[in-house]
Amino acid sequence: MQEFDVAIVGAGAAGLFCASVAGQLGLRVVLIDHSARVAEKIRISGGGRSNFTNTQVSAANYLGQNPRFAKSALARYTPRDFVELVRKHGIGFHEKHKGQLFCDQSAQQLIDMLQAECAAGGVAHWQPCALDSVRFSASSPCGKSASSYEIDSERGTLRCAALVVATGGLSIPKIGASDWGYRIARQFDLPVVPTRPALVPLTFDAAAWAPFAELSGLSLPVEIATGGKKDTMRFQEDLLFTHRGLSGPAVLQISSYWQPGTPIRLNLSPSNVVAEQLLQAKAEGNRRKTDRKFNRMRPSMARVFGLETRSVKAG
Ligand SMILES: Cc1cc2nc3c(=O)[nH]c(=O)nc-3n(C[C@H](O)[C@H](O)[C@H](O)COP(=O)(O)OP(=O)(O)OC[C@H]3O[C@@H](n4cnc5c(N)ncnc54)[C@H](O)[C@@H]3O)c2cc1C
Repeated sequence: MQEFDVAIVGAGAAGLFCASVAGQLGLRVVLIDHSARVAEKIRISGGGRSNFTNTQVSAANYLGQNPRFAKSALARYTPRDFVELVRKHGIGFHEKHKGQLFCDQSAQQLIDMLQAECAAGGVAHWQPCALDSVRFSASSPCGKSASSYEIDSERGTLRCAALVVATGGLSIPKIGASDWGYRIARQFDLPVVPTRPALVPLTFDAAAWAPFAELSGLSLPVEIATGGKKDTMRFQEDLLFTHRGLSGPAVLQISSYWQPGTPIRLNLSPSNVVAEQLLQAKAEGNRRKTDRKFNRMRPSMARVFGLETRSVKAG
């Protein structure tokens, strides 16, 4: 039976990084993944160029049951540290919007970088390799550890002192996502927070969305909000109409806070105070002026409203 200090399951962003650090610290590491291709989620991230970090990031940008986790993680490893690693590998990058850093060429360069870092740490990489059961023994020593895990895999059974589960979230099973990590958590009686989608677009029932499908591709800056008076979350970001619903940074951000059955409020013109301008024009009692004012509004807004009322008339 093969022995390792650490077995890491999942060769995505987290697993590759963890393996490279553990390997370079001198541990005997095996990294195992059941997918045919390495780190598919990195490859598709950021539209293929990966928004790999953000210069303005802080613990406040992370959602979770334990806010102190992000604080201590970011104190030990900052976005600047990752940028230095990217520079060390000669990967070109640029800043896009609000501190977001993207590769100039391709997210594949980050995958190559992480694999090179693993190789530098002498990491054994078993991929593709399906896993079966995991057993813990308090009395079987492994290396300096008095206890060990035994894992049955397609490449035989291995023993390790520590097991890292880095199998990611449940989204996109066709590129490797599975509930393996959740099953292991249940097996070892670890409490699991109920899962729900986050950082996702909103899709609508096809019939309900049909009148808006024509707007697909339209993007405009908006203010988006959800929640009640005491817990409102609000973002000023771009909204994108798609053929299935709404997307863009505004919707991805708010999706992490939205609770099913509650409203999402959109202000399609956060910089012009549209309602005030229209009410003022209406108060002046000049219908033609009101119509003109509305029709002069941002063209994209006029397109949004134009679907429902071809010629805009003040009421
Ligand atoms: C379309 C899209 C765009 C994104 N863009 C960005 C972006 O620009 N910037 C950003 O920071 N984030 C982005 N993300 C999010 C980011 O990709 C993920 O947060 C990140 O890749 C998660 O890394 P991970 O290692 O935790 O999990 P994953 O990358 O999901 O890795 C988990 C690995 O575990 C393996 N695995 C699962 N089950 C098993 C099993 N039973 N046995 C063995 N192996 C198993 C999988 O094959 C996979 O390789 C994007 C996500 C998507 C879907």
